Formats: sequence, structure tokens, C-alpha cells
Amino acid sequence: MRQVLAPSAVGSLKAEHGPGAIVVPDQLVDRTSGRVQTYYDAGGAVHVSFADPYCPTGRAVAVSAARSGGWDIVDGGTLVVIEGPRFSTRAESQWFARNGWTIVGMTGFPEAVLARELALCYTSLSLVTDHDAGVEAGEGVTHEEVLRFFATNVTKMRSLVADAVEALPKERTCACGSALDGIKLPFDLP
Ligand SMILES: [Zn+2]
Repeated sequence: MRQVLAPSAVGSLKAEHGPGAIVVPDQLVDRTSGRVQTYYDAGGAVHVSFADPYCPTGRAVAVSAARSGGWDIVDGGTLVVIEGPRFSTRAESQWFARNGWTIVGMTGFPEAVLARELALCYTSLSLVTDHDAGVEAGEGVTHEEVLRFFATNVTKMRSLVADAVEALPKERTCACGSALDGIKLPFDLP
């Protein structure tokens, strides 16, 4: 199994998903800028399918492991990845929320597409550390808040990742491994 399990800290765009919830997103919106997002930047473009950015097997395993671990789990949702390092303005955050998107963070892209470009599986385990600026009435999220919350949950998160790794099937049945089928690569993958 060539699976990337990617824990990260995110802000929630929905009032009902508060700190401590784990979202296993099934969609992604790229609001980054200037990050290199391909390995194939020389010798011809490679266009991989990214309609479904996450591994269905990895998602199912992560959701089930989190459920068994007693986490408040959200199965599915859209992760908006912003460039950072600053947090969103209230207007940006409200705009994301109005679009129906679920969580916002600064990592997970281009990692997900880089994994796809290598025909690896990729699954995001997004730990909600706070409500984003447009969702809460207060001062908005602070760096300290996020770090403090993540630190208190990091041991629990580690054991969730270990449980998920343990539960991954030996045989690969998802389509992630076929991402490069029929595509001519500009160089041979190692
Ligand atoms: Zn997969």
C-alpha cells in the first residue's frame, strides 16, 4: 500500500464542527499562489486527473479508525487551502463558508496533487483547532490558540495515524495507482 496519511490543523467554516473534530475531506479547493504543484515541469506537461483528490480507501480507513478512537468525526467535506502564512480575513472566511466549504488550512496542497502525480494514495486527517474568523464572533483565530490546541491533541492524533496504518488493506484496489496509466512521462519515475 502506497498511502500518505496527512494530519494537519485546520479552522472550521461550519459552526457545528468545533475544536477537536476530525474532518476527513473528500474535496479540495486550492487558494494558494506561487507554490510549485507539479514534478513534471520540464519536457512536456502531464495532466493527471484530480477530480477526486483523495484516496477512497484511505478515507474509509481513516474515518473508521477515528470513529473507533472516539473522535468527533466528519466524513467528507471540502478543505480550502490558503497560501498563508496569515490567517483569513473575516470576509474571505465568510466567502469560503458561503460556498459550502467545510474547513480551511495552509497545508495539504500541493501535497495531495504531488502524491497523485506519483500515483500514491493521499488521505487528509484534518483536526479542527478553532472556528475560522468568519464563523466565530470573537477576535478571530490566533497562532497561540492553534499551537496550544494542536499540542494537547498530538498524542491522540499519533495513535489515530498508527491505528489507520494498521487497518490499511494490504491489497490496493483504489484507482490512485492508475493515475499515470496511458500518460507519457517526460522522465522515468524511480
Ligand atoms: Zn488510493
